Amino acid sequence: MISIRNLNHRYGDWPVLHDINLQLSERRIALIGANGSGKSTLARTFNGLLQPEQGEVHVNGVDVRRHPGEARRHVGFIFSDADSQIIMPTVAEDVALGLRRFKYDKARVKQEVDSLLQRYGLERHADHSAHLLSGGQKQMLALSSVLATQPKILICDEPTTLLDLHNVELFVQTLRGLEQQVILLTHQLEIIEDFDRVIVIDKGRVHFDGLPGEAIDQYKRLIRNRLAHREEAV
Ligand code: ADP
Repeated sequence: MISIRNLNHRYGDWPVLHDINLQLSERRIALIGANGSGKSTLARTFNGLLQPEQGEVHVNGVDVRRHPGEARRHVGFIFSDADSQIIMPTVAEDVALGLRRFKYDKARVKQEVDSLLQRYGLERHADHSAHLLSGGQKQMLALSSVLATQPKILICDEPTTLLDLHNVELFVQTLRGLEQQVILLTHQLEIIEDFDRVIVIDKGRVHFDGLPGEAIDQYKRLIRNRLAHREEAV
């Protein structure tokens, strides 16, 4: 559960988020909106990657501003570019890094790593160089390494943008099966049709908040109107 109160943010003099108030408790939530509408900025406040200029964010009751370390333990983050998330040379080592804070012994680490790699289809690649995996495999590795930390909430910022259709489907299917609360930022509207809640962000404000069908319609209407009036998105 993420609770956002009176959130405002500017980059320098440039206002980016205006008076956002949201209670995010549904299991599958999508944030959609044009490029530059403020989705990533908003999502980055959920685990203290960014401290908003004004307002409060609580994650499962933890105040992110006051306790960013604790909040970060609740919230895992996945980005479009899996390469930027892979830290260790091999696949198994990268997943093991996510387990470090549990202070398991060597045998337990191996058992947990094997189990995660098996679950996410990477068992044959355990000792391979992580950076030589395919794009789809890299994103599954990024997911495995984040899930190793046992977050309660997973934020995915356009995780499928760089993937082919097969890997988009595989990744989204995997997200559907997770027990974690998932908050997905995406431009691929077809993958959120079965989500519990879709929030349309426009120019740093909540433009619509509701079920996927209506949210997607509202978003398309907004963009068409804007194009018709040749108005800029940001
Ligand atoms: P979205 O995720 O919806 O594409 P962002 O949150 O990335 O939107 O960006 C919102 C606005 O803030 C854009 O105008 C973007 O150029 C600007 N912006 C994003 N990050 C920074 C930054 N670190 N410094 C200055 N401006 C930024």
